[in-house]
Amino acid sequence: MNATERSIAAAEAHGAHNYHPLPVVVATAEGAWMTDVEGRRYLDMLAGYSALNFGHGNRRLLDAAKAQLERVTLTSRAFHHDRYAEFCTELAALCGKDMVLPMNTGAEAIETAVKTARKWGYRVKGVPDGRAKIIVADNNFHGRTTTIVSFSTDPEARADYGPYTPGFEIVPYGDLAALEAAVDENTVAVLLEPIQGEAGVLVPPPGYLSGVRRLTAERNVLFIADEIQSALGRTGSTFACEHEDVVPDVYVLGKALGGGVVPVSAVVADRDVLGVFRPGEHGSTFGGNPLACAVALEVIAILKTGEYQERATRLGEHLHHELGLLVGTGAVEAVRGRGLWAGVDIAPSLGTAREVSERLMERGVLVKDTHGSTIRIAPPLVISKEDLDWGLERLRAVLAG
Ligand SMILES: *Cc1c(COP(=O)(O)O)cnc(C)c1O
Repeated sequence: MNATERSIAAAEAHGAHNYHPLPVVVATAEGAWMTDVEGRRYLDMLAGYSALNFGHGNRRLLDAAKAQLERVTLTSRAFHHDRYAEFCTELAALCGKDMVLPMNTGAEAIETAVKTARKWGYRVKGVPDGRAKIIVADNNFHGRTTTIVSFSTDPEARADYGPYTPGFEIVPYGDLAALEAAVDENTVAVLLEPIQGEAGVLVPPPGYLSGVRRLTAERNVLFIADEIQSALGRTGSTFACEHEDVVPDVYVLGKALGGGVVPVSAVVADRDVLGVFRPGEHGSTFGGNPLACAVALEVIAILKTGEYQERATRLGEHLHHELGLLVGTGAVEAVRGRGLWAGVDIAPSLGTAREVSERLMERGVLVKDTHGSTIRIAPPLVISKEDLDWGLERLRAVLAG
């Protein structure tokens, strides 16, 4: 057995099988490239589901983390620390909102948004106790907690985890009339991804997000945008909602906010919404810790230059132009996405998306399959045009059979 086989065998023996990773064992990474334990190099076209928007080993983020490691890493929220105020102020400003509630993982931030909406519903909107309803979309992905999988329509994510949390209604994604019909006097929020990533990078029809914004404003319902995967540069703008000039009431952020260094997530909203929390009503031991704040502050500083949003726009146009040429060749049935983010539906004659991903891996390109026939392409935004073309060339070769 070589080092790869030994590592995979041990992972399978002692790690729970809740993932089915490609058979590559990464040892180091830099920029858009990863190197495995045998010394083989791979172009990373997944970027940790957008957690690595700014690349592996980003110098600015590593320097910020290292400097903070030497100062103080954890205080708990029992005390103030000197990076917290700056983090909240800067993140609120980036979002154009008043307040921030920091957590660690995306799922925790979604849970926090659900709690925020319900508390707002009872305290501010005047919904009768225990009656708050939150509307979500089918094919959503918002995380893995028991409450969140309660409103998933993916049988793999949901089965065998009941009893399920009530208080959610599921409507078809992209269907404004269905959403309008579902809103009632007890509806406190609509929770949506502006682009559905896990579902296969589904972009809603034009006018949908702005329609949701208009409807929720008219009916005194919070619009919660799960921008955990779509925000912070990926689509060519800071927030995917910007493409429809939409400002939601609540942003939920995660993934790239921690720069691929530490888990950092947050709920960001105005004071009339996030102001509902009183001491003791919600919290997290690690949420808003000094190391997380230091890294996220550097992420925010990087985003303020606009450089990565611009890169994602420019390289994204190139990516979608090149992928578009493959549609109708018999190998690719459809391509969706925005910026440096694409879902590519593979023709069944070429095998499953997993098989295509394995063939790409053999040629030095790492992507992730989803829903059987789709591969997801989302390289770090630091990728060079030459490297992107190198990856696309390998994709064309694999699709040519
Ligand atoms: C990844 C993701 C989550 C969950 O984040 P975790 O950090 O894995 O808990 C929620 N929503 C969306 C849109 C995501 O992409």
